[in-house]
Amino acid sequence: MGAEQVITGLTRGGTPWVAQFVTALDEGKCIGCGRCFKVCPRDVLTIVQRAVDDVDFDDDDDDDDDSDNSFMTLSNAMDCIGCEACSRVCPKACFTHSPMALAA
Ligand code: SF4
Ligand code: SF4
Repeated sequence: MGAEQVITGLTRGGTPWVAQFVTALDEGKCIGCGRCFKVCPRDVLTIVQRAVDDVDFDDDDDDDDDSDNSFMTLSNAMDCIGCEACSRVCPKACFTHSPMALAA
């Protein structure tokens, strides 16, 4: 019985790499900065507004970041190519990645 085979890609030079697909995005930790959205090449992510009840409209005391009125969601997770660009730019470590087994 061999090791489970996972989905891999190849670099231009022919070196294999293991795709690390996004499996979860911690919306509670997300500050809505939009960095992951800008770098994702596959339109996997969508930013949404927090519910009105969760939003602090008095934004001039302890909260100096307007962007946390929104958060990122995984809207097209099945389009992820596992490049990990989102995690490289995320300041809050919101993403969880995992390799994926090759279909038999
Ligand atoms: S791993 Fe790549 S393709 Fe997948 S969500 Fe992150 S940036 Fe997009
Ligand atoms: S980079 Fe991280 S903190 Fe910023 S919007 Fe994306 S998931 Fe949220």
